[in-house]
Amino acid sequence: MRWRSQEPLLTDDWFIARQVCDSIWAIEDPGQVTSYLVIGRVEAVLVDTGLGIGDIAKLVFEICGALPRWVLNTHHHFDHVGGNPLFDKCYMLPAEASAIPRSWPTDMFQRYVSKPARFSRPLPPLFARENYYVEPPKGFHALKDCMVFDLGRVSIEVIATPGHTPGSASFLVHPGGCLLSGDFLMEGTLHLQYPYSDLDAYIASCERIAIRLSEISSILPSHYRSPIPGNSLVGETHKALTAIIDGKIEPKSVASYWGMLSEFVYSQRLSVWLPGNA
Ligand SMILES: [Zn+2]
Repeated sequence: MRWRSQEPLLTDDWFIARQVCDSIWAIEDPGQVTSYLVIGRVEAVLVDTGLGIGDIAKLVFEICGALPRWVLNTHHHFDHVGGNPLFDKCYMLPAEASAIPRSWPTDMFQRYVSKPARFSRPLPPLFARENYYVEPPKGFHALKDCMVFDLGRVSIEVIATPGHTPGSASFLVHPGGCLLSGDFLMEGTLHLQYPYSDLDAYIASCERIAIRLSEISSILPSHYRSPIPGNSLVGETHKALTAIIDGKIEPKSVASYWGMLSEFVYSQRLSVWLPGNA
């Protein structure tokens, strides 16, 4: 696989888009979340649609000259589905439905956009901060585990990786072996504090991905550093989560948006949040 320059190659008044390899563009809501555009000879798919602050459809059109037929969501969280209304067909694993709320509190969004330090660029000049709200996905097309989307010389395979949420999905791009891992595998804090998060399922997801390790050349998560070369994060995440279950990590209490949580620090690049006060 030919890796491309990490310099920004395309920006508008919000997004920063980089071509990370021949068939994949990373489209970043600056400093927050990354969506990925996977382009084959015939079709393209967009994995996640970001915060809904910028017009991701316009940028995607600029990159591939058409709108992709399919949007594949890694999971339902607002920072991943914000641009979904701009596209016709948005997919998710059906298991995610049990976690999707009817609505999100408005003040959550106002608090989110009222901290400019969150973002590595100023909000777009025409963005109406006071009206910012992301609707939870009301309906979506159902992904199937192991489903493969043929894009023409490039394909993208669905792998169910529940744990962060019940219907979290990762996507393996062939050829090249890039794993788009959503919030499942990433360097930073793994969020398992939600009522629907499941530590045992998360560990099983790591084991599921570990079977495919020889096919994975790099991990492209939704947050923090991307791409992460190699696949060692899979085993490291598995070790971190099993160490928590085995009581080998002393948690500490942290104050967060979700109230007091228990933080388990496993390594320099990996920590885990679980519910409750340590
Ligand atoms: Zn998430």
